[in-house]
Amino acid sequence: MKCMWCESEGAFRTQVDCPWIMPDGKSAVMIKAVPSIHCEHCGITYQEDEVTQKVEESLILKDLSEFPREFSYQQLLEAPEDRTVNLFGFL
Ligand SMILES: [Zn+2]
Repeated sequence: MKCMWCESEGAFRTQVDCPWIMPDGKSAVMIKAVPSIHCEHCGITYQEDEVTQKVEESLILKDLSEFPREFSYQQLLEAPEDRTVNLFGFL
């Protein structure tokens, strides 16, 4: 597939572990097996906007109080939503 940076066709889908800054900007977590695209031509590994958005949303909407500092992308998507946050109109 096409790399969004160098536009070569050498990019392919993969999964990588990504350090991620929490929405509060104060702490960071490690999210494992995040769907990503790696380009052999320019050596960049990046996430599509859709994936980035999903992670950002999940970090805000989900109840991660019981989560360890390392978890997988799949675990994040499956985590229950934090109802108290929804009350404040994030949706
Ligand atoms: Zn590239």
